[in-house]
Amino acid sequence: MVRTRFAPSPTGYLHIGGVRTALFNWLYARHHNGQFILRIDDTDQQRNVEAALQPILDGFRWLGIDWDEGPEVGGPHAPYYQSQRSARYQGAVARLLDAGCAYRDFATTDELAAEREVAQKEKRDFVYSRRWMAETPADVARFEDEGRVAVVRLKMPREGTCRFHDLVRGDVEFSWGREQDHVIQRADGTCLYHLASVVDDADFEITHVIRAEEHLPNTPRQRFIATSLGLEPPEFAHLPYVAEPGGTQKISKRKLAKYLKNRDFKELFEHGSAIAAALGREVEADTFNPVIVDFYREVGYLADALLNYLVLLGWSLDDKTEDFSRAEMVQHFSLERVNKSPAGFDPQKLRATQMRYMQAVPSKKKVALVLPYLQQARLVTSPPPCETGPRVAQILQAADDRVKVAGDILEFGEFFVADDALEFDEKAFEKRIRKPNATPLLLAFRAELAVLEPFDAVTTEAALRAFIEAQSIKMGEIIHALRVAVTGKAVGVGMFDTLAILGRDSCLARIDRACARE
Ligand code: GLU
Repeated sequence: MVRTRFAPSPTGYLHIGGVRTALFNWLYARHHNGQFILRIDDTDQQRNVEAALQPILDGFRWLGIDWDEGPEVGGPHAPYYQSQRSARYQGAVARLLDAGCAYRDFATTDELAAEREVAQKEKRDFVYSRRWMAETPADVARFEDEGRVAVVRLKMPREGTCRFHDLVRGDVEFSWGREQDHVIQRADGTCLYHLASVVDDADFEITHVIRAEEHLPNTPRQRFIATSLGLEPPEFAHLPYVAEPGGTQKISKRKLAKYLKNRDFKELFEHGSAIAAALGREVEADTFNPVIVDFYREVGYLADALLNYLVLLGWSLDDKTEDFSRAEMVQHFSLERVNKSPAGFDPQKLRATQMRYMQAVPSKKKVALVLPYLQQARLVTSPPPCETGPRVAQILQAADDRVKVAGDILEFGEFFVADDALEFDEKAFEKRIRKPNATPLLLAFRAELAVLEPFDAVTTEAALRAFIEAQSIKMGEIIHALRVAVTGKAVGVGMFDTLAILGRDSCLARIDRACARE
């Protein structure tokens, strides 16, 4: 039975690179009819774990990445929080000490720093002399009499090579001589990540550790811990990281300012920011950031589109297939086809994927997707009045692919505000309506709209064409003024669709209001 895991620290946000790693674990497990476990690495946690974990769990739920064991769902190996598992870790430390694979070390920070300095001066790798290693109870007593306190260190091999097969990187080797005697237990008795991780992976019967490549150098010591405890180490697969847009370094949420110099990234961010602003949401780099999954959820991307984009960040089926349903991803996923080099985050590709998915959403479902945005922006009440659904469907049809994410519906707020609350783009108003003849023309055409039957896109178009002919004017002399009068804006969906969606009463009221405006 394949069992994989993702082990987030509760940081308060779900990183795009983290979710890609989790996705690969999930896909690998699902492909093999195995299980996917969420473990919470909260040993260093100062803050409130629950609060810092919630956005991560919410992100997974939104994406549809479900876990078989872990927080909220429990499981046979509970608890899944490292902070609640210290008894297991203490037991492992005791066994490592007994086996002579770890030792109590009484060196002070200064003594270690001095040794390190000598190594540096002599231009050689630092290897701890083990001078303050306690080998017997007498040593312990002597050091304690000196007022020293101990940490527990691994007694790492100093010769030979650590070799293992990584399922992504192939055969890898590390020289034991370059490994430090890593601390596994602090002076206060708490245990560190490496030990905890190995103990948990064994307790949870993890068969495959699929994780970011920055953990590759940690693998020799983790394998050493496992074998020293008499455990069979799991298989390892180290994934290349998700790289910065247009770069090769790992993408980081702290480098937002730098990424905004990339045109595509900037476009992605500004598009989202405009939606957030329309929702009245505060845009802080700490939480509103395209490196964080929440960004996409808030702005109204489709979870399936994001997932499809993410699966191709480092994996491919062939050179051409771009679209994968969840079932297809599960069916085809394999570690053999994971790339060895970093996959660059490509905002343009992400938006193109989103657009393809959005175009495929049936009208009814699309209405349901965008409606909450209108409600959040207080353009529509909840529950919505019964005319809202059909109106939203009409707008979506007229807007076509201008609604790329659900939040884009907010560009069409003019269809939801009351006629006497419509705001005018002053520049457009100045240019199109405050000019000689604009108002008389508008009022003349208004008189025709008032009696038009039926009032739809076809008849309004025919009426306007007849009108300009009769007045001997060009289309441009009235259509822009008409648009500004009824929508307040210079651009929007097709003019005649706009008139039809607004309906006669609104059109007349809005033209009157624009013409009466000082
Ligand atoms: N909590 C670790 C991390 O966030 C997990 C590392 C691992 O997968 O072993 O990187």
